[in-house]
Amino acid sequence: MNKIIFFAAACLLTALPLSAKERKVRILLYSVNKPAAITLTPEQGNVFLNDKVLRTPVVIEAKGQLAAARGFAPPGKRIRVDAAGRGIWFSGGKSPRRLYKGLIEITAEKGRLKIINTVPLEAYIASVVSAEAGDLSQTEAFKAQAVAARTYVLKHMGNHTRDGYNMCDSTHCQFFGGFGAVKASAQAAADFTRGEVVTYHGKLAATFYHSICGGRTEAMIYVWPFEHKPYLVSVKDGPANKPYCSVAPGFSWKTRVSLKALTGMARSQKWILPQENIRKMEVMDRGISKRAVTLILSTENRRATLSATKFYHGIGRRAGWNVIRSTLFYLYSGKDYVIFEGVGNGHGVGMCQWGAEGMARLGFKYRDILKHYYPGTEISYD
Ligand SMILES: [Zn+2]
Ligand SMILES: [Zn+2]
Repeated sequence: MNKIIFFAAACLLTALPLSAKERKVRILLYSVNKPAAITLTPEQGNVFLNDKVLRTPVVIEAKGQLAAARGFAPPGKRIRVDAAGRGIWFSGGKSPRRLYKGLIEITAEKGRLKIINTVPLEAYIASVVSAEAGDLSQTEAFKAQAVAARTYVLKHMGNHTRDGYNMCDSTHCQFFGGFGAVKASAQAAADFTRGEVVTYHGKLAATFYHSICGGRTEAMIYVWPFEHKPYLVSVKDGPANKPYCSVAPGFSWKTRVSLKALTGMARSQKWILPQENIRKMEVMDRGISKRAVTLILSTENRRATLSATKFYHGIGRRAGWNVIRSTLFYLYSGKDYVIFEGVGNGHGVGMCQWGAEGMARLGFKYRDILKHYYPGTEISYD
């Protein structure tokens, strides 16, 4: 009986006109390290550069405020690439090799290329799901990720409008690595959930997500104190002795950091003064999930307090995100070092991606998963 109702409902839903069909997203590519030059190699099919067919690789370079296609187009304000068919590869220098499709506009600012790709919303979702949830295995977890990613982009379309695009391609917005490695499971999840979004009282929800919560997600207010959402509260991620996300590789971690390295980091981030040395580090208080909220950095003459989120971001940006993976850690002091013993990976707000995987393995469906991590929300059509 249930199955029949579900089937009928599914037919009804897919018959609805979906406005998401035509939506486009403008994404800034290579946003973290904007290249001064990049090589474009057409994969196959029709690729046009400023309305001329492009058959061979071409180097695009920034010349101050102008962009030039070496041997193809003189320096100009804008280069327009239309990559239909299988798309065009970008590579060269420190820029990772990636395949892009659709309209690509290239301008230059202060000797760096500003590359904006306009792609259909659903194609973007499939790519984001591939990159953000690529290590997961469960269909329902992929679907939950697709709905969260779709809601996130629609809610945050204004993130960068002042700069002429909607999203950057880094995790500041959502990681977008083009179309060279879109997994069939991610594509299927995007297709299956096409147009579905998470809403709260009829409005798009801010569907933050992270890799591993470590047993309990964190309330938004403890991570970003300036904002509160009624559905971004701390939720218990399954039984305490076996959280849903305990299926994740790297669920728990341990990092030893010398006080010298910590001091160097703290000085460069201006958490302490240039002449100060860190002698001890402690956790002052913790949030509902037991994540550290405020830290104390003791130097020879004072105790400086620091937001644990700032610390986590500061270390992540400088030393990589694998050193201190979350703020859910306990500290053990040695003579000249500190040991961080932690669980989880990421900020802990909203959906736990590996928890979604764990729930799916236990038989939960994607809508149950989303409602678990965003309590009080509904699934609606955009
Ligand atoms: Zn961004
Ligand atoms: Zn979790």
